[in-house]
Amino acid sequence: MAVSELARASVAPAASAAYPLIRCRAIVKIYPLSGVEVHALRGIDLDIGKQEMIAIMGPSGSGKSTLMNIIGCMDKQTSGDYFLDGVDVSTQFESELADTRNRKLGFVFQRYNLLARATALYNVELPLFYAGMSGAKTGEVALAALDRVGLKDFAEHWPNQMSGGQQQRVAIARAIVKQPLVVMADEPTGALDTASSKDVMQIFQKMHREQGVTVVVITHEPFVADFCQRKVVMRDGKIISDDRTPDWHDM
Ligand code: ADP
Ligand code: MG
Repeated sequence: MAVSELARASVAPAASAAYPLIRCRAIVKIYPLSGVEVHALRGIDLDIGKQEMIAIMGPSGSGKSTLMNIIGCMDKQTSGDYFLDGVDVSTQFESELADTRNRKLGFVFQRYNLLARATALYNVELPLFYAGMSGAKTGEVALAALDRVGLKDFAEHWPNQMSGGQQQRVAIARAIVKQPLVVMADEPTGALDTASSKDVMQIFQKMHREQGVTVVVITHEPFVADFCQRKVVMRDGKIISDDRTPDWHDM
């Protein structure tokens, strides 16, 4: 199956307006830590609709990454319900979770997490290899993704031949190459200067606008959150505010 068909197949259920793409109800996460319980999330209710671009903010230790790990199917809640695209993922086994992650989600991290000893193109092709796409097609599809982040001419560059901002854009190309429903980014601008941070956020807006990707960005920087239509603020494992910009349109 071509990658576009693959993506369509996974997009179809979310087209229904009957349920939000992401639905969290009374999510609690308790980490056992050498005999002490760390209450990282203390009852999170959060719906994120398709087509939203949302920032999750809050001080260090407020539970942002814990929430993203649950939404990203990398960890499970201690109690509460989490539905992704209408599916109760907490009932899924690890192999099904991995499949959900691969088909529906894209991830961007603060430190890019690129393979150092591979070209930009190869880094973006990797998820396609794992998805079993024919080797004859991966180059073309990955190059189109690099083009969307403005790095077509850097396809043969290695990470150490690119700036931090460029490396993060390669990481974004890798995250969107299979057309996920949701792209999740944990502090994607945390290691970047202001100009590169703006570039990265404008690329997220472009993905959101042109491909209808739902974007969830964790940040503690207000100017980064300003690129998003909706801002959720966490403190001590709870959501303390949730604001939408009414006439928001991406730049
Ligand atoms: P944030 O991303 O907002 O900085 P985290 O979600 O990383 O916050 O952490 C929330 C709380 O959970 C913190 O008190 C943190 O120390 C704790 N925590 C996070 N991960 C673990 C873990 N694997 N084991 C134990 N405690 C953890
Ligand atoms: Mg964090």
